Amino acid sequence: MMKTCSLCHSELPERYNYCYQCGEYVGDAVALKPPVSPEVEAQQQQQEWVIHYGCLTLIVLWAIFGVWFFFHMNR
Ligand SMILES: [Zn+2]
Repeated sequence: MMKTCSLCHSELPERYNYCYQCGEYVGDAVALKPPVSPEVEAQQQQQEWVIHYGCLTLIVLWAIFGVWFFFHMNR
């Protein structure tokens, strides 16, 4: 697997931590986090938001249903 220097865009072997062309650090931070475009990042944040509030809504609905069920059981 190759990685690309963020400064001069030359291809480097995975084991290299520094670019042999310009000396730029191309360690783990560059290798693990590929550049994400703002559009994709916004989409991911929106998905996280939907999942977060979706779960919250489900929990609230379950709580309401539980209370409703509890009162109807005791009648
Ligand atoms: Zn470089």
